[in-house]
Amino acid sequence: MIEIKSEREIALIEEAGKVVKAVLCKLSKYVRPGITTSELDAKAEKIIGELGARPAFKGYRGFPASICASINEQVVHGIPGKARLKTGDILSIDVGVEKDGFYADAAITVSVGSVSKEAEDLIKVTKDALCAGMERAAEGNRLFDISHAIQDYTENRGYSVVRDFVGHGIGKAMHEEPEIPNFGKQGTGPRLKKGMILAIEPMINQGAHEVEILEDGWTAVTRDRKLSAHFEHTVCVGEKKARILT
Ligand code: MG
Repeated sequence: MIEIKSEREIALIEEAGKVVKAVLCKLSKYVRPGITTSELDAKAEKIIGELGARPAFKGYRGFPASICASINEQVVHGIPGKARLKTGDILSIDVGVEKDGFYADAAITVSVGSVSKEAEDLIKVTKDALCAGMERAAEGNRLFDISHAIQDYTENRGYSVVRDFVGHGIGKAMHEEPEIPNFGKQGTGPRLKKGMILAIEPMINQGAHEVEILEDGWTAVTRDRKLSAHFEHTVCVGEKKARILT
């Protein structure tokens, strides 16, 4: 069952969303050659605490950090560490917080210094794929209209959509129903209703869609080790369009 949130609940999710947004805006300014993802993680944890929230990822199934930091061929769930970012890298930062019992989740991919034209294009297409998906998050549409829009946008540009990870409902827990794949058939899936809260999150690969998990048990990488990008917003399904909460 996909829960419909009340106005009060949506307002609380939006408060959590403001924290997520602030963290991503601030972190993106710190990203530069020479900084480590551990340093970014420490900054994120501090900002989240100062804003009266709690990092939702830390301790989630044993995850050791407040953000996921996934570099280049890493798709999602990269564990922050001591490796220094270098010019030409791309970095996906995923942040989830809980504030007053409500959750929000978002991700961005940023470039470190100047990056290749190919990397820049992958980032742009992934961001635009998220927009294409969000545009379908309106009352009366079907859930997999969102999935289809993302897949269609992406594959038309020669990229592939990761199958092994999906978006999700969110609100009183970080992961609620439904699962939101980034691929699917138009006109299928549950009917969308105003007040549903969805975390839509395309993960887009430069090469093939297959991924594998590294020995740390968390980090997902592309099997062909080509680049991957990730964007995510928590949105509220509206009458005509989605409202972004992060
Ligand atoms: Mg998510």
